[in-house]
Amino acid sequence: MSKVKYYYDSDTLSYRKITRKKRRTFKYVLAFLFSSALLAFFFVFLGSQFFESPNEKALKRELSNMQLQFDLLNKKMAEAETVLANVEDRDNNIYRLYFEANPIPEEQRKAGFGGVNRYKALEGFDNSKLIKESNKRIDILQKRIVVQSKSLDEIAVLAEEKEKFLATIPAIQPVNNEDLTRMASGYGMRTDPFNKTRKMHWGMDFTAPRGTPIYAAGDGVVERADSNSSGYGNHIRIDHGYGYVSLYAHMYKYNVGKNQKVKRGDLIGFVGSTGRSEAPHLHYEVFKDGKRINPINFYYGSLTAEEYSKLLDRSSIENQSLD
Ligand SMILES: [Zn+2]
Repeated sequence: MSKVKYYYDSDTLSYRKITRKKRRTFKYVLAFLFSSALLAFFFVFLGSQFFESPNEKALKRELSNMQLQFDLLNKKMAEAETVLANVEDRDNNIYRLYFEANPIPEEQRKAGFGGVNRYKALEGFDNSKLIKESNKRIDILQKRIVVQSKSLDEIAVLAEEKEKFLATIPAIQPVNNEDLTRMASGYGMRTDPFNKTRKMHWGMDFTAPRGTPIYAAGDGVVERADSNSSGYGNHIRIDHGYGYVSLYAHMYKYNVGKNQKVKRGDLIGFVGSTGRSEAPHLHYEVFKDGKRINPINFYYGSLTAEEYSKLLDRSSIENQSLD
């Protein structure tokens, strides 16, 4: 029970009870509650500016952990990029060069993605830049791997072709010449054995006794085995494909016939002195796309570097050919 309060009424000269109106009391209470709530909000707001809630702390920890993970991923990507750059370099400067394929330009290997902004969904966040850059980086890395993989596929095909090509081109000396003394005259300007004038000698002469075996210099098909070409006497032409033809002249006897398939090293005939020839020898020519080229460029297959250089010296002496 609340105390009953009185006041002195001078009009009636008596004490009267103080009565407060209920509505007014309610108003006071409401005002008190409202101002308390306002004050409470103010303090909570003020507090949140200086102190973090446990939830905020947890989120912040998670965010910084994610940033750390992104940094680690970027480091790993950098390592992958270095390894790939190394493979690309070897691809361009060794493999593609060896197989005579054009190197793939840097801008083609490292091209990003043009056109529509594919990273739009990643924009508008605090960490947008980090996430966007990482995404771009991995996209380019992926593209580079695809380009590199295609290049290796191409090279595998070229390698297979090259193997076939190497088996077929004329790449050995057509007679046994272990001590290299049989090579008598090379390709170039030489003195004609008959009229002693200087003229072009279009092949290489190997001196050897009549009947010495002659071998096919590469895989191919015998195109001709006859004596219907003036000067060459009995001669054989082998078509090796890829534009290469080898010619063996002044033969004594054939061991193969027209249209016969031969392998490198097959016995095709024997040394003689038929046609325009001064003494028993093999006159050997190599054609590429119908033009006669220096056969010395094709013996690397069976010679050491030292032997090759010796043969090269001997073949460049401007002596007299045997024709
Ligand atoms: Zn000759």
